[in-house]
Amino acid sequence: MTSDVLLKHYLKTLRLPLFLSEYPQLARQCAEEKASYEDFLLRLAEREVAERERNAVKRRIREACFPAEKELADFDFTVLPNLNKQKILQLSMGEYIAKRENVVFLGPPGVGKTHLGIALGREACRRGSRVRYFTATGLATAYREARDQREVGRLDAFVKNRDLIIIDELGYVPLGESGAEHLFGFISNCYERTSVMVTSNLPFAEWNQIFADERLAGALIDRLTHRVHIFDIQGDSYRLKTRLRAPVGDPDGEDDSPDRGEEG
Ligand code: ADP
Ligand code: MG
Repeated sequence: MTSDVLLKHYLKTLRLPLFLSEYPQLARQCAEEKASYEDFLLRLAEREVAERERNAVKRRIREACFPAEKELADFDFTVLPNLNKQKILQLSMGEYIAKRENVVFLGPPGVGKTHLGIALGREACRRGSRVRYFTATGLATAYREARDQREVGRLDAFVKNRDLIIIDELGYVPLGESGAEHLFGFISNCYERTSVMVTSNLPFAEWNQIFADERLAGALIDRLTHRVHIFDIQGDSYRLKTRLRAPVGDPDGEDDSPDRGEEG
């Protein structure tokens, strides 16, 4: 039927894939229900919009470069009685991003800082925020490479375009002089413009070890903590705990399997 072929062609030209795939079935259904033309159009448009929103969320999650898929729903709060679950759930609503507030997770390795950071980041993506995940060393390296390629401006512009920047694992590796300066400049740039989420195994008092410069560390903490939600997580390593809980000799007791890749 020529009109059918034409319609398909027009819908493709207009980039309305859901119209294209769904209209025959929906047209039959609406005819049976004696639904109005407006109703038919409305239902088609709704499906198209919902599909676009789903794709946008997927794209935002992909662009955030999370190293793993972690969700709040999979986080066991009962093992951390001192962690304020309500406050975490409230953060997942994303108001702190609108207010350009920062978040800091402190605590020893394995207590779930990265898990919480990724989970909150993914939630932010679902709510329309543009997010980017870095490890602290990864970010410092990105700047060092950008400087070498005279592309710091481009990196800055990219980062300024984000609503939330996650800097994970600050403190595991000393950053060196240039790395520390880059990170300081970076967080200064974000100040009151982009929300920053930082995780660290070191308490603030020991951050001068990371920056090898007490004044720089002080100034950075000052900016970072001006408007901030701080979670000082005290607890045992979750990995270790699951390992201890497993029956003796059960090699599957620990969850050290590599994290799954990001969804497309
Ligand atoms: P950290 O960043 O504090 O070193 P991670 O977030 O990397 O710790 O946690 C280590 C592993 O244990 C991850 O696989 C994480 O998903 C898991 N994990 C940690 N805490 C919890 C928890 N409370 N509930 C569920 N999984 C957890
Ligand atoms: Mg971590």
